[in-house]
Amino acid sequence: MTDLRSLSFQELTGLMEQLGEKKFRTTQVYEWVHKKLAHSYDEMTNIPKALKEKLSDAVVFEPLKEVERYVSKLDGTTKFLLELSDGNIIETVLMKYHHGNSVCISSQVGCRMGCRFCASTLGGLTRHLTVAELLGQIYYIQKTTGERVSNVVVMGTGEPFDNYDNIVKFIHMLTDEKGLNISQRNITVSTCGLVERIYDLAKEQFSITLAISLHAPNDQMRKELMPIANKYTISQIMEACDYYIKETGRRITFEYSLVAGVNDKEEHAKELIRHLSGKLCHVNLIPVNPIDERDYKRSTKASVEAFAKLLEKNHINATVRREMGSDIQAACGQLRKRYNDRKEEKSND
Ligand code: SAH
Repeated sequence: MTDLRSLSFQELTGLMEQLGEKKFRTTQVYEWVHKKLAHSYDEMTNIPKALKEKLSDAVVFEPLKEVERYVSKLDGTTKFLLELSDGNIIETVLMKYHHGNSVCISSQVGCRMGCRFCASTLGGLTRHLTVAELLGQIYYIQKTTGERVSNVVVMGTGEPFDNYDNIVKFIHMLTDEKGLNISQRNITVSTCGLVERIYDLAKEQFSITLAISLHAPNDQMRKELMPIANKYTISQIMEACDYYIKETGRRITFEYSLVAGVNDKEEHAKELIRHLSGKLCHVNLIPVNPIDERDYKRSTKASVEAFAKLLEKNHINATVRREMGSDIQAACGQLRKRYNDRKEEKSND
């Protein structure tokens, strides 16, 4: 059954009409759910009991439940393990910056993209997250921590473009003034580069930031790191990015995880420069976070700096991602994986 929080204002209006309710009730219920972030019908004090009963016959209302919370002693970064109504576990991260609070959400339970360095994909894809579950991660954190969330990055577990329709609806609802009214400029969606969806997203005319996980300067190397590179070439991605930039006027971010001895040499930086020269873009260099299952090592500080310098020298804006919450396994999917492994061990005992 659909969750109440997955209904857009228009859809809720339709449902309320079907239930024979007045228009102002839609506004009241929508506000409880998307502005006051109610966890249950009990909190909706100005809604009659009869309407709550009718609503609960028509839709479910199942906010996420907290399983565990880890707070970094280094920088206050907080990782949440949240449980969905079917018992699946996802990871959501709250990062505090001086410019505001940023939440990194998951877009799927697991992932089927198979990137070699990523812990989120080791168990494959379980399912997509619903709109209610996408919004629910942000609502849960804002409500329980009392911290206003100003930035959202869709960079947690999952491939957002593999769950495209829900992501688009989620962006509409999150940025709607009837909801949390987060600015589109403060939303980043990160993809491994499903090319058709880059064209689709351009047509949405959002002013969000699109981030593309590139990680390699040529197709051969990219295929070794990311299976999706067997489907799309870097030049197809670049063409789609040019279209995106032309349609939206927005600068694209390219993510490049540096793996020692694999993609971090001077020749690789030069190859990357050839792809990105003259493009409205920004490169985010991420020293790879080693995971137990693979023997990828992070590049040395010196090679990261040299790589960044070479890009800058060639007029390509580059930053090295500051590591947050390194004491609480903040790397993609590691915490969820550890939790699930532990649960399995227990049930095998
Ligand atoms: N599927 C999307 C979003 C989730 S991953 C995507 O591919 O962009 C978010 C970012 O973290 C991606 O750039 C991903 O490649 C990167 N990433 C995953 N595991 C990593 C690791 N162990 N070290 C460094 N970056 C990693």
